[in-house]
Amino acid sequence: MRVKVWGCRGSLAVPGADTVRYGGNTSCVSVRGSDGEVLVLDAGTGMRPLGIELAAEGVKVIHVLLSHLHLDHLQGLGFFRPLFNEDTEVHIWGPASPVLPLQERIATYLSPPLFPVRLADIPARVTFHDAPEEPIVIGGLSVRASLVTHQGPTVGYRVEEGDRSVVYLPDHEPGLGVDVALQPTDWLSGYELTNRADVLLHDAQYGDDEYPGHIGWGHSAIGLVVAFAQKADVGQLVLFHHDPGHTDVEMEALVDEARRLWGPADDRVCCAWDGMVIDLDAGGVTLERLPPVA
Ligand SMILES: [Zn+2]
Ligand SMILES: [Zn+2]
Repeated sequence: MRVKVWGCRGSLAVPGADTVRYGGNTSCVSVRGSDGEVLVLDAGTGMRPLGIELAAEGVKVIHVLLSHLHLDHLQGLGFFRPLFNEDTEVHIWGPASPVLPLQERIATYLSPPLFPVRLADIPARVTFHDAPEEPIVIGGLSVRASLVTHQGPTVGYRVEEGDRSVVYLPDHEPGLGVDVALQPTDWLSGYELTNRADVLLHDAQYGDDEYPGHIGWGHSAIGLVVAFAQKADVGQLVLFHHDPGHTDVEMEALVDEARRLWGPADDRVCCAWDGMVIDLDAGGVTLERLPPVA
């Protein structure tokens, strides 16, 4: 399968001269299976260019897997071109809520005055599903979700093809109130989902010096995500959900710090950027480790 990052910024899109290298779009990642399956992880602003590509290819079945409904993970949905083609079948998966069904929560955004088109008037055939706690099969891909620590109902996803696995945890604070290194794994948010994944894309919003002012906001600091990834024995950690206030220069410093904290084999840590490609197949994991020079 091929994983491509279309947006990896947290909270708010931040285009501009200071974010050219790592990108300014909010969370959106495509996973394309070897048999042509198309999954889309989150619907942030990076979903707009992905939609242009999928529409041009004429892809007719798309599964959109939402981690949660914060606007930085949903805002691109109304600009996703395949939704405006009546021949397209779009399945939208997201965390269950005791308050409102997924469809009604999304309709809150896709309706006036926030958006000119009502969800009910979208031409594509759209079906809503609760995120699967037991594995479901989509073509040759296996997908499952798990509730994790963030603000409001939030899930992470694990996608597998053959022996390869990628885990997506864009908004996650596993260390809330606990020491990740000391916490029993049974009680550590996201651990079971992440355990021994080949690739982990994980919230890395804060530098360790910024975290004390943001405890409980639902996000991770660099030290926390490194400890979590090592505890879960992942093959490759990809820092994700970058703070909108972090410039490209500050991003480089955070990656350096993450590598230092990782210790030996520090090439198992890298940082997502808009356009990053990760290939997973029987031969292993192939990825570009550095963004092109702007
Ligand atoms: Zn977010
Ligand atoms: Zn969030």
